[in-house]
Amino acid sequence: MEAFISSLTARLSPASKVLQDTTTSEFKASLARWSDIDVRVPYAIVRPAGEQDIVSTVQEAVKAGIPFVPASGGHSPWSTVGQEGIVIDLSRYKGSSLHPETSEATVKGGTLMKELEVSLHPHKRFAAAGNGNTVGVIPYYLGGGISIYRPLIGFGSDNLIAAKLVNAKGELVDVSETENSNLLWALRGAGQFFGLVTEITIKTYPYSLLGNEEG
Ligand SMILES: Cc1cc2nc3c(=O)[nH]c(=O)nc-3n(C[C@H](O)[C@H](O)[C@H](O)COP(=O)(O)OP(=O)(O)OC[C@H]3O[C@@H](n4cnc5c(N)ncnc54)[C@H](O)[C@@H]3O)c2cc1C
Repeated sequence: MEAFISSLTARLSPASKVLQDTTTSEFKASLARWSDIDVRVPYAIVRPAGEQDIVSTVQEAVKAGIPFVPASGGHSPWSTVGQEGIVIDLSRYKGSSLHPETSEATVKGGTLMKELEVSLHPHKRFAAAGNGNTVGVIPYYLGGGISIYRPLIGFGSDNLIAAKLVNAKGELVDVSETENSNLLWALRGAGQFFGLVTEITIKTYPYSLLGNEEG
């Protein structure tokens, strides 16, 4: 395991972090989950700062045969692993942007629900986002995603247009209706089981659809 950690650390950008000291506040904060039932303590927590860092982490883990789980908002019991593996904490890689021409939003890594909604507010737009402020956007959309807006705009998964994911071979793959389209339908219906999703592109809607210009 130490050889894997050394090899991985050498490939990561300086802004990324590999946490191994379980007593530090950073390790504890990263491992905190919505419920502490069944939370396991990994050998290390990797906090990649960029997309290439995520790809490198998956590639090194696959090469060394080390089990890993991604973590975004930490609302499930499934984003932890024991001493045999590592957690890839996506909270250092986040952000969302609205494409002016299509009004679609691209949401990266560990972006949380409220962070997405706050970024859309200046544009007076909303998405099929739930009201759990600290739920991870990507796992929510991959898991179906039900919100108060569902009768108007459907489930989160209905609003998923494209994605980028790192597959089991450690390849970064573009997913859309025209590229690897089978994977798009897989992500829409069966969520987290096809790779580590580094970003998603989703539909957004004007506040006027809610009958309330203030959102
Ligand atoms: C308080 C609370 C409120 C909720 N509200 C709603 C709601 O209103 N509507 C709704 O539909 N659901 C809701 N949920 C359920 C929630 O959407 C799911 O549990 C979701 O998977 C949590 O995502 P997370 O990032 O917070 O959790 P995490 O534990 O970080 O991740 C959840 C799962 O996704 C995996 N994962 C994380 N990031 C990625 C990634 N980038 N690529 C691939 N896999 C990844 C993890 O390994 C884990 O298996 C709620 C849950 C809680 C606890």
